[in-house]
Amino acid sequence: MNWQKIKSQLLTTRVGFIILITILFSLKYIVVAYLDFNLGISDPWQHIIMWTSPIGFSILLSSLGLFIKRPKISYGVMLLCDLLNTALLFANVIYYRQFTDFLTIKTMLNVGKVSQGLGKSAMSLLDTSDIIFILDFIIILLLFLAHKIKLQEKKSNSLASLMCMIGLFSITLNLFLAETSRPRLLRNTFDRSYVVKYTGINTFTIYDAIKGFNTSEANNTANMSELNKIINFTDKNYVPYSKKYFGKEANKNVIIIHLESFQQFLINLKINGKEVTPFLNSLYRGKHTISFDNFYHQVGLGRTSDAENMLETSTFGIPDGSLFTSLGSNNTFEGTPQILRQFGYTSAVFHGNTGTFWNRNDVYKNLGYNYFFDKKYWSNNADDNLGYGIKDKLLFAESIKYLEHMQQPFFAKYITVTNHIPFDLDQENRDPNFKTTDTDDKTINNYFLTAHYLDQALREFFNYLNRSGLIKNTMVVIYGDHYGLSNSEYQTLAPVIGKDASTWSEFDTATMQKVPFMIYGQNLTGEIKHNIGGEIDVLPTILHLLGVKTKDYIQFGADLLADKPRDWVVFRNGTVISKNYTIIGDKGLKSDIYQTATGKAITYLTKKQKAELTSINNQAQKSLKYSDILNTKNLLRYYVPKGFVPVDPTQFDYQNNYWEMIQLESRYSSSLYAKNHGTTTKLYQTDAPELKNRQSEITTVDSDLKNKQ
Ligand code: MN
Repeated sequence: MNWQKIKSQLLTTRVGFIILITILFSLKYIVVAYLDFNLGISDPWQHIIMWTSPIGFSILLSSLGLFIKRPKISYGVMLLCDLLNTALLFANVIYYRQFTDFLTIKTMLNVGKVSQGLGKSAMSLLDTSDIIFILDFIIILLLFLAHKIKLQEKKSNSLASLMCMIGLFSITLNLFLAETSRPRLLRNTFDRSYVVKYTGINTFTIYDAIKGFNTSEANNTANMSELNKIINFTDKNYVPYSKKYFGKEANKNVIIIHLESFQQFLINLKINGKEVTPFLNSLYRGKHTISFDNFYHQVGLGRTSDAENMLETSTFGIPDGSLFTSLGSNNTFEGTPQILRQFGYTSAVFHGNTGTFWNRNDVYKNLGYNYFFDKKYWSNNADDNLGYGIKDKLLFAESIKYLEHMQQPFFAKYITVTNHIPFDLDQENRDPNFKTTDTDDKTINNYFLTAHYLDQALREFFNYLNRSGLIKNTMVVIYGDHYGLSNSEYQTLAPVIGKDASTWSEFDTATMQKVPFMIYGQNLTGEIKHNIGGEIDVLPTILHLLGVKTKDYIQFGADLLADKPRDWVVFRNGTVISKNYTIIGDKGLKSDIYQTATGKAITYLTKKQKAELTSINNQAQKSLKYSDILNTKNLLRYYVPKGFVPVDPTQFDYQNNYWEMIQLESRYSSSLYAKNHGTTTKLYQTDAPELKNRQSEITTVDSDLKNKQ
């Protein structure tokens, strides 16, 4: 086939016309994807997948026109489909320019609210490059006018079906390619931009529709009797607070620091004679810190987002993905920011990654957060970021100019990112006085370097809390979200932490799931607690310290400072650890069982021991089960605890955080800035080399912030 022949096929046959508009649409999509979307495409393979992603739907949709007999209508339908595809793409581009996110079905249905939220007029979001959206239509129109395109009279149903098949095949192929590059993409989504990156706008929209439909199906079968069962369960297993601790830190600010991938074994560990985390170690045994040494993470596939969910709501993540991304846009939450709002608290999250990651943009509104300081609020020089966002020292240093304007008391969450696999750290950020391990596993060697860096960042932040006086009226909660080193590394890691690789067992792996949990407050007396607990228990623990009762809430955790603490923990995979037994997996007596104190395998149990083990295991498995029913059926929307005002997510707009806070300063203000009669940013000292000649990043808010995405 020569070029003349191809050209004539393209211009004179219906199938040729579909191929023509598909090529033009795909080109348009590719240009837009590079110009407007920040998809984070890294390797060549991902570029190729992105290029091919618009083809399938364009063919499939336009093929509908092939089934129509009358040529004018047939061509008209094909063009209309092309136009619809373009309109969807265009709407996404406009929305993305404002919100750095893609249009979900839910957003489209609420289109009135969205245009309000656009802030800027839609016109100002237009760009000259948008000419591309109509360029292909102009080309086609000109071809028609010049009689270059000739309508094919004949209709062929078999050809029409074949084109549909080709369209479907292209979509399937695209999904397959996406799966090779990003396994479990659609089942375990943590960011809408990943779905778009690999499958294009159309597949994303369909996927979102199916997901929404499944969710509403589940909701329709929701059952009040199930809700009652759950209430009975959490009520029966409620653990009363201790009078000794209740309200000890009442009305204080809360700063909660999420230590990324930080495991308990790092605490007090020495490498080459030096402590990995000297600052955290001193805090761990500090005279105002209550620390826990048998505290476990309980995350599943949702990892960081699961940890956040448990801490905010005291319900578990879901068994097959991330609750934040699967349910977070629609579910009703009764979480920390909204609970504390009833007691006059404002709330914020500080996190230097894009706001859409783990669907945080949506979830935080549903949790009731006033402010969300995401990537656009931080400096953005090339070496300010690493892997998953702003480097930790910069995160803390550059947050003060916002934090000091929060009305007190506040609840502020910091999510660190530098200590994230693969634990890369620039040479300039390494401490010349700290030498890491020399194992043949680079991940392990790196892990200690980034953990050490995180520790230094925390020290700088605490120094500021002390200098500014904030420490006096603030309770600081520190926790590790989940493991950093995993199964494949334990053999190499064992000798580093004084263990024997040859006798490494499932029990040792379970023990490695310990993460730090510390509460610092000047009304607290330092102690290290040994009772067993996990992330699910944090919310009732800190609420009780703040003097907030939790009995009326549906929470699956129990106060770790209770006079009679629960003293067991269940992992998301069903593994249970109690004082006496470590039960691997969710099979109860049929599981491998170890003695928790010694790590020795248990082969014989007395009748009494069996009964004790079964009872704990049943309660543990039930709490996972009931939590899953509660969340997947969104049952909290039927339950309003006494004194709780449900969240109105539409009142939050994370585009203008800073100016919203500044406006409040002009009235009576309880912010640190107002109390201090001026800024406290000058009190922040960091040795971060990135900021050496750019101190203004700490003291001054970027005047261009309003225009940033
Ligand atoms: Mn994490």
